[in-house]
Amino acid sequence: MRLDHIAIAVRSLDEVLPFYTEVLGLTCTGQEIVAEQGVRLAMLPVGEGRLELLEPLSEHSPVGRFLARRGEGLHHIGLQVDDIERALAHLRARGIRLVDEEPRCGAEGRKIAFLHPASAHGVLIELVEVPKERREP
Ligand code: ZN
Repeated sequence: MRLDHIAIAVRSLDEVLPFYTEVLGLTCTGQEIVAEQGVRLAMLPVGEGRLELLEPLSEHSPVGRFLARRGEGLHHIGLQVDDIERALAHLRARGIRLVDEEPRCGAEGRKIAFLHPASAHGVLIELVEVPKERREP
């Protein structure tokens, strides 16, 4: 496994981005709307991974509800796996509770699936399928 991204819930990308770019000096390499997750996200590479800032498209989306409940802050971490179906079968066999029984479509059209935080010691973990041949060296 490799770290893919760390996702941070924010109320407004426009308000928060200057902190990451001008104050911390990171570069925003793209923004994308992921309708399936109800977010607009901004990507900021750091080392081999990246930060993803998530702005909810509506207050009823999962990230919108998270903001209402807990405010801005760390939302989830994304870990890369070679084969997401195999990884989910491995977790299921060990009794790990999954948010997504089947992979769905995430940012950049990649296959993703979330584990339930109740089975991951309070952390929302997302698996992201990145086959070995598509990894950067
Ligand atoms: Zn994510």
